[in-house]
Amino acid sequence: MPDVFSDLVGQEHIIDILRSAVTAANAPQESTENSTHAMTHAWLFTGPPGSGRSSAAVAFAQALICPTGGCGACNECRSAKNSAHPDIEIICTEGLSIKIDEVRELLTRTSWAPSMGGWRVVVMEDADRLTESAANALLKAIEEPGGRTVWLLCAPTLHDLLPTIRSRCRHLQLRTPSTPAVTNVLINRDGIAPEMADFAARVCQGHIGRAKYLATNEIVRSNRGVIMKLPLQLTSIAAAYEAAQKLIDLATQEANAASEARDEKETTALQEAYGKGATGRGMATGASKAVKELEKEQKSRATRMVRDCLDGALLDMATFYRDVMLVQAATAQPNQPTAETLTRSLINIDMFDQINAFAHKTPAAATVKKINAIMETRINLSHNAAPLLTIEALMCRLA
Ligand SMILES: [Zn+2]
Repeated sequence: MPDVFSDLVGQEHIIDILRSAVTAANAPQESTENSTHAMTHAWLFTGPPGSGRSSAAVAFAQALICPTGGCGACNECRSAKNSAHPDIEIICTEGLSIKIDEVRELLTRTSWAPSMGGWRVVVMEDADRLTESAANALLKAIEEPGGRTVWLLCAPTLHDLLPTIRSRCRHLQLRTPSTPAVTNVLINRDGIAPEMADFAARVCQGHIGRAKYLATNEIVRSNRGVIMKLPLQLTSIAAAYEAAQKLIDLATQEANAASEARDEKETTALQEAYGKGATGRGMATGASKAVKELEKEQKSRATRMVRDCLDGALLDMATFYRDVMLVQAATAQPNQPTAETLTRSLINIDMFDQINAFAHKTPAAATVKKINAIMETRINLSHNAAPLLTIEALMCRLA
């Protein structure tokens, strides 16, 4: 029978742990020591982007409040997933950080007993974005839990959280799902044609969300095509500056396309909630203040989306150099693999000729440096470095 855990691709090792925790959580109070050991009130899900850490946490939340342990079909399961269940709170951060005021508000809301008598579950999708003061406020709650509140924190790695917080959580490490596993999900769950599913799964390297987005969005695919050609165009410093601007433009364009439709929907909904066109004085000021708040939030989300798109573009570019390195390593070996074997291990199979030519034209040591430069740039961007300057510096190093 499919249930809430069926969608977690390649995570069998943690599904067993979560299932026994659900069993223990629903066991009567006087249960054995073993079952109390299986359930705990603070969990930390870590894993590379796209491994599905927040999906795992949400599935666990569903299973904890579902009468049958996470069927995926009942009212509880469905409302929990849409963040519409009174006892489930899913915190997705739109901005670059989670501030102390937001955590305080959250703590007030979650201090009540669960309305349905079971568990109150908080899923925090980006616990790594907690500011230090916000993390400390949260720490107090995790240290003295209300008996029925469960905290599910998600972060890329353990080191993204304060040691004091991570030491109080049970840690679950998700794995990057294999390319065939992602291909299967795209075909069977999303109905994507096999050839497209294979391409998207391969170039997105285990990132299911990104793979689905790429497979279903033609503009994103054509943007990716442009980005993948950038390394070939870096023949001078002037070309490097041009490439940097192009990368920024593409990321901004992609981010705007994704957020525009959403922003408009939110603003309309908010105006309707205040009674659009209302003339009463109090009504008008209340609405305009709320719209301003929302616009501020949307702006902060847009900044983050541009950064996310830039990061995705940099990861794509890194796969080019990764393939170049692979060819260079293969040609350095005494018994060289056949072109066919080599092609199969590439991520960008469609660019084999360009990659091969590039590999023979440049030294292997330089390729390693270029990959390192890209990874350093990703870290700098995640620390809020100015995007254009940072990308320009990177392109000059790559040229
Ligand atoms: Zn259910």
